[in-house]
This record gives sequence, C-alpha cells and structure tokens, in this order.
Amino acid sequence: MIAADTGSRPRTAAVLVAGGSGERLEAGIPKAFVELGGQPMLVHAARAFVACAAVDDLVCVVGAGQVGRARQALDRAGLEAVAVTVGGTSRQQSVSRGLAGCPPSAHVVAVHDVARPLVSAQLIARTIAALTAPWDAVAPGLPVVDTLKLLDHGRQEVLRTVDRRGLWAVQTPQVLERRTLERVHACAAGASEATDDLSLVERAGGRVRLIEGDRSNLKITFPGDLALAELVLAARHPNRAPAPRV
Ligand code: C5P
Repeated sequence: MIAADTGSRPRTAAVLVAGGSGERLEAGIPKAFVELGGQPMLVHAARAFVACAAVDDLVCVVGAGQVGRARQALDRAGLEAVAVTVGGTSRQQSVSRGLAGCPPSAHVVAVHDVARPLVSAQLIARTIAALTAPWDAVAPGLPVVDTLKLLDHGRQEVLRTVDRRGLWAVQTPQVLERRTLERVHACAAGASEATDDLSLVERAGGRVRLIEGDRSNLKITFPGDLALAELVLAARHPNRAPAPRV
C-alpha cells in the first residue's frame, strides 16, 4: 500500500471507523478487537484495504484509550504504514476525525465500518471504480430478500407490510470525493445523527448510486454473526486450522 505513484488516478484514502463500543456483540471489549480466525476484526478489515491497489492510504479510527492497542495489533500484523487516530462519540464524528487524518492530497475517500471485517479487496476496488460522473457517492448494497413489516414499536403490532421492491440494504465501503464528504459533514453538524455517509449526501441533494454488493461482506452486530463470519472465513481458507474457541 501507500503507493509512491498513483499514475493518472486520483489519490484515494480509506477511513476505517472502529470507534464503536460494540455492546450488542456482548464481547466485553470493543468490536474492533474481537477476534475472527485468531485476528482482531480491525486487522481483517485493514488487510483488505492494504491489499487493494486502488487505495493509497488507510486511517483507522478507534475509541478513546484504544490507540495503543490498535497500533500494537496492526504492527503485529505487519501493517505499520496504517495510521491510527481517535474517534468521537458518534460514527459521524469518527468519520470526520478520520477524514482530518487523511493526507491533504487524497482526492477520493472510502469510508468503511470495522463491523464488516470480511470486506474483500475486490469489492473495495469495484466500489472505488464506480465513482464516476454524474454520481456524488457510491456504495455496495443488496436487494432486501425478507418480507418487511412496519411495526408499532410499543405494542409490536404490525401496521402494514412494506413493498420490498426497490429496497436495498446498503453496505460499506462508501466512496466519494473528499470535498463532498467534507461538505456534507459540515452541513450535518448539529443535525440528527446519520448511520452512514450516503444519507448525508442524499440530504444535501447529491446523487448516490448503489452497485451489487457481496453477501460475505457481513455486518457483525450480534454474537451469532460471529459464528457466521467464522464459517465464511473457513470457506475462504479451507486449509487453515480453525481458531481455538476460548
Ligand atoms: O453502531 P453501528 O453499527 O452503527 O456502527 C457502525 C460503525 O461505526 C462501526 O464500525 C463502529 O465502530 C463505528 N463507530 C465509530 N465511532 C463511534 C460509533 C461507531 O467509529 N462513536
């Protein structure tokens, strides 16, 4: 990574947001450090970006007090060139801080959630390549396959069935020009919290495109998701011994 010469393509930085507590995972440690196949999720995701020739720089954003731990995990994995910075109290703040840590010459930024540690270098490259005019932002996504119901939360009562045609679940990385990301984050300051960066572009009236995502780019939120991710890893590396469960 850290390409000396990007040729004719714009310099591209990635921001890996890993500053969440991951309470729903019930692991007792921040999600970024929960292990899959014997490696922290942070290392899995960072490796994919480092392996992607379209990415020149990577900044990992971790929770307060976790910088030393992240640095150690990355160094141990041979990822010394990856930068580490401290995040904020929300995802949006963490993205802003990561963006501030990107080299000034980075023109394009890919924002990725560490909660998707199985992202592949191919998906990252495909998403970056899809940022072309007239689009302001692009991300992978998948059509929703479940039947969807709108509920009255308090009573768990079904109010209606939502037509799923045209509904997609969005993934990360989300790719956009740095100046677009800076502008939409500045506009969003003080507004209601967004759970991704595309929604900030949408709010600002930008044009957003989804490309076909990858089912193995799972979002790890609940304990059961970890077991599923271990199976995906084992299928990718059939000759590797399974990680000991503790
Ligand atoms: O909680 P949620 O799944 O929306 O978090 C999405 C991503 O944002 C995760 O990768 C998490 O580590 C990151 N995050 C962050 N800083 C926060 C909160 C979440 O970097 N303060």
